[in-house]
Order: sequence, then structure tokens, then C-alpha cells
Amino acid sequence: MSSADTIVAISTPPGRGGIGIVRLSGPEAASISAQLVELHHPLEAGRARLASVLDEDSVQIDEAVVTFFATPHSYTMEDVVEIAAHGSPVVLDFLLRRAIGLGARLAEPGEFTQRAFLSGRLDLTQAEAVRDLIEAQTLTQARQAARQLGGALSHRVAPIKQDLVDLIALLEAGIDFAEDDVDVTPKQEIAHRIEALSPALTALEASFARGRIVHDGLTLAIVGRPNAGKSSLFNRLVERDRAIVTATPGTTRDLVTERIAIDGIPIELVDTAGLRQSIEGLIDEVEQIGIHRSREALSDAAIVLVVLDATQPLNEEEHRLLAAVEGRPALVAINKSDLLDRPPTVEARQLPVLSTSAKTGKGIAALRQKIVALATGGAASEPGMLTNLRQHQAIQTALAALGEAATANTDSIPHEMILLDLYRALWALDSLTGQTTPDDILHLIFSRFCIGK
Ligand code: GDP
Repeated sequence: MSSADTIVAISTPPGRGGIGIVRLSGPEAASISAQLVELHHPLEAGRARLASVLDEDSVQIDEAVVTFFATPHSYTMEDVVEIAAHGSPVVLDFLLRRAIGLGARLAEPGEFTQRAFLSGRLDLTQAEAVRDLIEAQTLTQARQAARQLGGALSHRVAPIKQDLVDLIALLEAGIDFAEDDVDVTPKQEIAHRIEALSPALTALEASFARGRIVHDGLTLAIVGRPNAGKSSLFNRLVERDRAIVTATPGTTRDLVTERIAIDGIPIELVDTAGLRQSIEGLIDEVEQIGIHRSREALSDAAIVLVVLDATQPLNEEEHRLLAAVEGRPALVAINKSDLLDRPPTVEARQLPVLSTSAKTGKGIAALRQKIVALATGGAASEPGMLTNLRQHQAIQTALAALGEAATANTDSIPHEMILLDLYRALWALDSLTGQTTPDDILHLIFSRFCIGK
């Protein structure tokens, strides 16, 4: 990818809007813009300029505000021009085609951000954060992305990397100057230094548990026998009516899903058909399909909410259900607690049990809290969490390589070999921030951006 060319794209979303922005970046950004629109005053860095948008016959079709960001004080660190017209797709499209006719090239997805990365303005974790920020569905996600965009993750990795580089330098010096009487670093010293690296890396690795949840959200399946109150609890959690609630068992025939956010964590709620005792012939075919789907949902969900009816003794199916979710992140709601003075005690193995009433709302707040606690594993929010698989794998690779270096050191393997492991760890940390990320991976990352970003 050459930055010698000037790229152009419509940077606002497709469709009509109050304004729409055509953005150019590259050496010709200013000169192309000056031909593209009729500027009322010459472009000046950091100043917004009024301009007329003229069609091929020099008839005005719009007016625009043109802002020039001169290199290196721009998003890409190249010359950037933003032309803000009214958000009419035909006008924006006209400007885009015209810019291409004047020598600009249509930007690839994420190419502006890729240029910001290639120019060193953003590292790879920050570039990823740009995309996360755009795609955030909750403010918690936006906050998390903004922190990463500010370099929180890179800052967290930097001191670990520095210690690793120091250790590598120490061993390299021992090898390079072996004949010059430079002391060979003692085994204990190396062991100690490798060990000192691991707590910070391990903590970083562990941050993925929460980081991933904040980033991706999770699915929660609501299961239980018909009429236990699953749909009613679902509606309580959704806080508006979505699922159909009736007094006849078996009405929730298909899966009903809804995205909600608890504490800023996106949660896809799945209301399943009742796991009805399979009395042959009683359940019609449609409901069978629903039951099959609910079993699927049960196995796919990150968290399972088992709803029991406080007024009914546990049946066979419910015993099996509780056994099936044992060991998984799951919780039990004993619903319809309003119908009893004292909620029954349920032998729910190791699972957290709450008493709820979908009717009165009692216990719903506690239920939300418990869901979040289960989702995050109780981990607190921290700056610089790992939020995607790529980052997580980089840290895992670094940890594994350090482990191998430690073993090699214990086994008195020559320092040249230990260094190979240490370099692998360093390479992994560098790939996190993009310094050693292969081009095809980079391409993959940026291709997931939208055009114009
Ligand atoms: P589902 O089949 O498990 O989805 O159950 P529904 O949510 O459709 O509820 C079945 C019936 O129980 C409906 O008549 C609800 O109004 C009623 N119900 C649900 N939750 C409660 C509750 O907490 N208290 C009482 N008294 N009734 C409830």
C-alpha cells in the first residue's frame, strides 16, 4: 500500500442526513479539493472554508464547508481534507466520482485508519479500538474502546516489554563479549528475571475474561418448564413486553431473543420454549421443533437462567436440567415467590439461587446483579484489558515462550537457545501493538472496517 496516492471516500454512513462528509487523504488532497469545489477562500490548515459544489455545467448543486488538516496534524498524518456537504447521497456520490476523476483513488475499508497506523500515529491496539468505538452498543463499550484508543493496553504492555528487552540485552552481551571477560549472567539471575515478568503478563491474560464480555457481550438462555414464568421474567429483564405471555403451557413455541444491556454489558436474552416432559403425542410438531431449539440455545448460551415455579415441586425434567447446567455459569430463579409466604428451599447443587416474582418485580434487581457477576466472573473493570482473540493469543504466546525460556534455563541449555525463546516472547508482544504483525493479518484487521474510516 503506497501512501503516494491520495484516497477518497464518503465517511458518513450511507443514506440521507443533515450533513455528509467526503474525506480525502494523501499528497494531492488539497489540490484535488481545490478543483473539486469552488472555494470562497483558499484552503488554510486548521481553518474551515465555505465552498460551492458545482455540477458539470457549473451550476451550483450544494454548498459545503471544507476543512484542511495539513500533514502531520491530521488523522492519517498526511494532508487530509474533509468536505462537509448536505447529506444528499447524489451530491456526495457526485463529489466522490469527481474526486476520482481528478486523480484520487477510492479508499479501501479502513484505509484511513490503516494509514494512521502505518504512519505511526496509532498502534494496532489503538487502530482496533477505533473500530470498537464505532461499533460500541453501550457507553461502557465506548468507554473501554476510548481507553484503548488512548493507549491503555499499549501502556500496560510497554514496561513488560522493556524488562524483556533488558533481559535479552543482558544475555546477548554475555554471548557477544564472552571472550572479553563479560560475566555470564548466573542461572538464578535469569530465572528471577523471567519469573518477574510473569505476574504482569498473567494478569493481562486474565483480563481477557472481562474484556471479551464487555467487547462481545454474551447470550443468556432462560430455561424451565412451561408456565414457570420464563417469558414473564424475560419481559421483566427486557423492561417492555416482547415475548407473548399466556396462561396456557407451551405458548413460547419459538425462541424469542432480545438484546439488553446490564451494567453496559450487552446481553442477548433467549426465551426458550418450555422443556416440557416429553409425553409423546401431547406435544405437537411445532412445539417439538421449539423444544429442540431450546436445547440448542441451552448448550450455546454463556449463562443459563433456570426458572422454577415456587408453587410446584421439582419434577424429573427439572432435576435433569439442574444436573445438566452444573459446573456451567448458571443461576436459578424460584419464580412466583409472591404466591408463597416463604419461598421453598431448592436443592440446586452449587448454583446461586434467587427468589423472584415476575409479577411484582421482587428479586429482579438482584437477578440483574447476579447475571453481571456471573458474566464478568466477578472481575473488576481495569484499564488496558485484552478485548479480542488476536490480543489474547499474542499474550498467550508470550507466556508460553517465557515458560519455555524458564525451562531451558533450568536445564542449563546454552543462552543462545534461551534467547530464541525470549525473542519469540518479544515478537508476540510486538505483534500485539502491530510492530511485527504480518501483512495478511493487518489486511484482515483493516478490511473489517467500514469504507471511509
Ligand atoms: P413460561 O411458559 O415459563 O414462559 O411462563 P409465562 O411467563 O408465560 O407465565 C405463565 C403464567 O404464570 C402466566 O399466567 C403469568 O402471568 C404467570 N406468572 C409468571 N410469573 C409469575 C409470578 O412471579 N407470580 C405470579 N403470581 N404469576 C406469575
